[in-house]
Amino acid sequence: MYFPRSLPSRTDFGVFNYTPTKVEFKAMKKLGFKCDCCGFIGQPTKAHPACGLEFLRVAGQIKLLCILCAQSQMLMRPVMLENGNKEYNHGRLIYCPEISQGKIIRVVRDIFAMAQYQKSNPNRPMRRYIEELRESFIESLLSRCTNIPALKVSNNDLVGYASLYKYASPELLKNEKKVFGSIRYLPDEVVYGQQIKQWLHTSYQPYLNEV
Ligand SMILES: [Zn+2]
Repeated sequence: MYFPRSLPSRTDFGVFNYTPTKVEFKAMKKLGFKCDCCGFIGQPTKAHPACGLEFLRVAGQIKLLCILCAQSQMLMRPVMLENGNKEYNHGRLIYCPEISQGKIIRVVRDIFAMAQYQKSNPNRPMRRYIEELRESFIESLLSRCTNIPALKVSNNDLVGYASLYKYASPELLKNEKKVFGSIRYLPDEVVYGQQIKQWLHTSYQPYLNEV
């Protein structure tokens, strides 16, 4: 069960070109380069052997996650951008118990990827379709930003929520699913643009060949 957490990170910031150790790469291969949260399957290349995936200990178990899902578990960890800046505001928090964290990230990544593809291959009907998807999915999720009554995260402050989780008492964390289980993380399109581009040229390629 995935919902936003503030787990400690092994690295100071999230990177898109992480180099896995030999043991990590072997383990990734065994798991089919598949994200445990959203089900995304990475395609390793020489330049990007981790293909946007990394290992993280969640609720006592080591999980292989894509960087979008990994960031949802390490809200305090900034993301390193192409220009070398570290971005702490890498996503938004929403109240959405009906849709799983994995599904939200799966759909959002597809929309971001389609938008990037459309930008370099302009196509009016496709652009309209992407706008419709954005409105029906992303915009409706964003309208739930302020709807986190129990936590009073009225301004949707990522760091505020993260510190609330980080400093929660052991008693509270024992019931973490009850307390935090309805919150979801919505990744930012610009922050993850570079990673989406890399995935567009690898994992999404078979679909694009059919277009
Ligand atoms: Zn994922």
